[in-house]
Amino acid sequence: MCSQYTKYLLEIYLKNIYIYANPLQYLKDNTMVTETKIESIDDLISDFSRFYILTILYEGPAHGYCILSRFKKRVKKEVSPSLVYPFLQQLEEKGMVKHTVKPVGEKERKVFELTEEGRELCTGLFKRFADLVSIAIKPSLYVCAHCGCKVYEGGYREVIEGKETTFCCMHCAHSFKETKNLAKKAAQN
Ligand SMILES: [Zn+2]
Repeated sequence: MCSQYTKYLLEIYLKNIYIYANPLQYLKDNTMVTETKIESIDDLISDFSRFYILTILYEGPAHGYCILSRFKKRVKKEVSPSLVYPFLQQLEEKGMVKHTVKPVGEKERKVFELTEEGRELCTGLFKRFADLVSIAIKPSLYVCAHCGCKVYEGGYREVIEGKETTFCCMHCAHSFKETKNLAKKAAQN
């Protein structure tokens, strides 16, 4: 398991995703968005921070401060408001995001949400990202010997009958051994 390497690969993929990906790919089912619009949006979304802001917006409406704190919580890194606010504004100018002013606590805040167009953009980006991630993690995937699910991090290993066997979890290992024992007993009878 070389998760450092996977992380490194992911970073490279993230940096290059917008350069290598063909913007026309996700235009097929998205007739509302013009080609020029997509190209300039691709320029905008040029790094991980912006990509991550989109994932936060995709989950639902959020005000600026909320985006900042969610970002910090999940990425374990601060994102500068001087990146977030202009990006939101750019997205709004492109018709990908709209805002409404709502009272949050004692203050009035701009609550941002993705437009229909913005959601479609995100769906397209996430699809591309998922494809690249699955390429990046494939070499380190293994399959649980009991349930057959794919595991790419953690998992559970146990030596069974002299052979190191991999499982998704200890419960699967337990069931695996039980099944084996039952089979043995059946063979003895
Ligand atoms: Zn399993």
